[in-house]
Amino acid sequence: MSPKHTTSELTLPFPGPTPVKLLAVDDDPHNLVALQAILEPLNQELMLAENGTDALRLCLDHDFAAILLDVRMPVMDGFETAEMIRSRRRSRRTPILFLTAYRSDEQLFRGYDLGAVDFLFKPIVPEVLQSKVRVFVELRRSEELLQRQTEDLKRTERRFRDVLEAAPDAMLITTEDGKIELANSRVDMLFQYSRETLIGQNIRMLIPEWECSMAERVRESLAQAEIRQMGVRRDGTSFPAGITRSPFQASDAVLITTAIRDITSQVDAEARIERTNVELERRVAERTAALSSSNEALRQFAWAASHDLQEPIRTVLAYTQWLSEAVNGHLGKRESGMLSVIEDHASRLNQLLGALRQYIHVSESGQQEWAPVDCNEVAAAAVSTLQTLIQETGASVEWSPLPIVPSIEILLHQLFQNLISNGIKYRSSERTPVIRISSTATKTGWTFSVMDNGIGIDAQYLEYIFGVFRRLHTVELSGTGIGLSICKAAVERLGGRIWVESTPGSGSVFNFALPRDPHRESRTK
Ligand code: ADP
Repeated sequence: MSPKHTTSELTLPFPGPTPVKLLAVDDDPHNLVALQAILEPLNQELMLAENGTDALRLCLDHDFAAILLDVRMPVMDGFETAEMIRSRRRSRRTPILFLTAYRSDEQLFRGYDLGAVDFLFKPIVPEVLQSKVRVFVELRRSEELLQRQTEDLKRTERRFRDVLEAAPDAMLITTEDGKIELANSRVDMLFQYSRETLIGQNIRMLIPEWECSMAERVRESLAQAEIRQMGVRRDGTSFPAGITRSPFQASDAVLITTAIRDITSQVDAEARIERTNVELERRVAERTAALSSSNEALRQFAWAASHDLQEPIRTVLAYTQWLSEAVNGHLGKRESGMLSVIEDHASRLNQLLGALRQYIHVSESGQQEWAPVDCNEVAAAAVSTLQTLIQETGASVEWSPLPIVPSIEILLHQLFQNLISNGIKYRSSERTPVIRISSTATKTGWTFSVMDNGIGIDAQYLEYIFGVFRRLHTVELSGTGIGLSICKAAVERLGGRIWVESTPGSGSVFNFALPRDPHRESRTK
């Protein structure tokens, strides 16, 4: 490059980090060429100026890592130029190296006064100049790096604050012992403090129950569920707050992010639901009490009616029988027929009333003797009661060893007797009735099965037949239609349930399950 040009740029074609800018100012072009040659190996961008004015102009547009300034120059000498350079903001801190041929103390003082970093005396020793300039180059590189890192950091922090601001909840970042480091604007709104006042304070002034040991715990389980604590506003009023904490490892310490939301409306709604539930429970209890008292009244009425009707019916029966004996042989066929119809119906009515009383008795509330009952003995007793029917039909009743269960003996007896007699009663005309009783132990108690080889029951009636007065065979076989309702009431009083499985034409299996701990069962119902 030619030194005749007052200002020139030298862009060195070497790869590597972006070159930093250097400025050399000397009124002697030869000196500039010499400087250029010395600094070339540093591979930086060197700009040249032949006077102070050009140098100042370049300083307006560029940031130099260092300026090499000749002291002795016409018009504006090196010191004047340095003074001007220092007076400008952009170049206030740019290192200046004065180049001078004179070692005078006066010059040195003036130069250092003007912020010179160093002096280099002519003739310049290339190695010395290179090593000095290299230091400034490195310095600039470090500055640039630091600046970039600071900007990155600022950007990250800005992004972090933006995220914090965008959060729907009040967010606080604290140290493990609760010192507030950062807060979003929702914190101001929720607690009525300005954020600046909060920084450095302890989070417990907002959430008094916030615990230090909690930090240890949340560190173990990062996904901490929301907990409820009270929040205290600046004016001393408090509100229920939903609080979620999550710790994170910052560069030098563990910090805790605490998200806080006002859950007043949620808590109010819960309280309303709670009040409604209490009210509902009260009403249900009231209704249940009313129902059970009306049930009791009905039961008493049914009992009284069946009891009081029994006497007139018995009288009708007795008088009909006396009448038929008294007029024996004096009545025509038609009249005797009428008399026997009255007798039949009165006796059926008597039977029905008896069955109804039995049903009421079985299903009645109140205390009865609970005791261990040997089911083998109960089955034997039931069979003995049914001896006549068994002999008439040639039926056989068998059972495998049955358990001893906590029960009310009379109810179990009723149950076995009704199921065995039904098994015989609803027998098939094609085979001799065989009744088999068995039991299996279950997790909660026992299941008993009474199996017959009778006519069976159509699938659609399997539940129907357990209702009061429900009969499938009204004409051909006598009965009250209450036997199975008595069985159902008895099993339910024993805390169990009854059901039937059947194959029409082949037979039925009546099952009932009894609990091992009937008292617990009735408590949980
Ligand atoms: P009842 O025997 O007096 O009619 P139940 O309540 O004992 O009254 O039985 C109701 C009806 O269920 C009976 O009329 C009968 O139709 C049917 N049933 C009961 N047990 C059996 C059985 N083992 N096999 C077939 N049908 C039965």
